[in-house]
Amino acid sequence: MNESPASDPLVGGGPDHFRPQTRAILSGRQGDDRSLAPVLWATSTFSAPTVAEARRLATTPGVDRFYSRYGNPTVSGFEELIADLEGAEAARAYGSGMGAITGVVLGLCSAGDHIVAQRQLYAATQLLFQAACPRLGIEVTFVDGTEPGAFAAAVRPGKTTLVFAETPANPKLDVIDLTELGAIRGPVTVVDSTFATPMLQQPLAHGVDLVVHSATKGIAGHNDATLGVVAGSRELIDWLWGFAVLQGAAASPFDAMNATRGIRTLPLRIRQQCESALALASALEARSDVSDVRYPGLASHPQYDLAARQMSGGGGLVTFDVVGGLEAGTRFVEAVRVARHAPSLGGPETLVTHPASTTHVNLLPDELAANGIGPGTIRMSVGLEHPDDLLADLTQALDVATAG
Ligand SMILES: *Cc1c(COP(=O)(O)O)cnc(C)c1O
Repeated sequence: MNESPASDPLVGGGPDHFRPQTRAILSGRQGDDRSLAPVLWATSTFSAPTVAEARRLATTPGVDRFYSRYGNPTVSGFEELIADLEGAEAARAYGSGMGAITGVVLGLCSAGDHIVAQRQLYAATQLLFQAACPRLGIEVTFVDGTEPGAFAAAVRPGKTTLVFAETPANPKLDVIDLTELGAIRGPVTVVDSTFATPMLQQPLAHGVDLVVHSATKGIAGHNDATLGVVAGSRELIDWLWGFAVLQGAAASPFDAMNATRGIRTLPLRIRQQCESALALASALEARSDVSDVRYPGLASHPQYDLAARQMSGGGGLVTFDVVGGLEAGTRFVEAVRVARHAPSLGGPETLVTHPASTTHVNLLPDELAANGIGPGTIRMSVGLEHPDDLLADLTQALDVATAG
């Protein structure tokens, strides 16, 4: 877990002086500090006493008491929490992680612009860059994010407006060098940090301009919210707000309320998930019916040293291949009993997916291979069940899968 120095946290400063575990509890109480639980502002609109006041509100970035597509007090509390945990000046919430990513890309890029994007990406993000951007006249160059210097080498000065990375990346948990990304000057650098959550890494501290999350995942953490968020400088977030109001992918106050409640236990949940995931990854690595176990906290991970430098834990995801290909992989996800077969990650329930037949089903075989996805690849999001019960479940499911 992140243990930033805080020699005398109660003296001389704002909440920045507290450790992340404390800030996850103290922050995000904007607007009402008497209710301990987040307050649900289930309203789409707000009355203004005068026309002058309405005019002021309508033109103030981040306004949260004008009209809820512009902003909402429950959503503001969530945004404040994320900005605080990411060490950002400001944050903007969206109706989903893809809403946030689309908001960043379309808010910052125009026809004729050039984007450098990582090849290893969440499948919907990849399709946005591969299909939607070219249709809008935005050119995208894909690079192998694990290759040193690849992002910087692909930047075209004066033409590249955005560099987009994801770390750890879907689904094979490739780790991208945040310091290298943060050193790129010119284009806006963006990191999708969903798999790490703000507890395990802070891209902005490495000089990256914007961090995005699908808060649907570990941040909300209970499979009860569909939500996205972007954090960065006040200037960039205000700019994005201008487009977000047109885009309309506004966060639901109900989901923001659930996410704020979820964040109160985020440090504890992440700590347990890291511990269980490491134990399961080690156990899987010892089995002969499993190959290519990927976990950033395992010494066998190709970027283990880099992960150790920039992350304070390996996270809750483990990827592995069931020996026996497509048939064994599909039998495995249908045989688990404690774990569930479902997309998403970061919740209390351990979830397994078979990317080749679900999340990445739209990719061509060579694209699958380029992403390191084999026919028997399983992505597992480790939940909060007892790790011994999970291990027993994985063992019986592997026996079923490989028995044929
Ligand atoms: C889920 C996910 C997204 C998309 O988020 P939604 O909330 O489903 O729109 C983007 N990036 C990563 C890494 C994800 O896991």
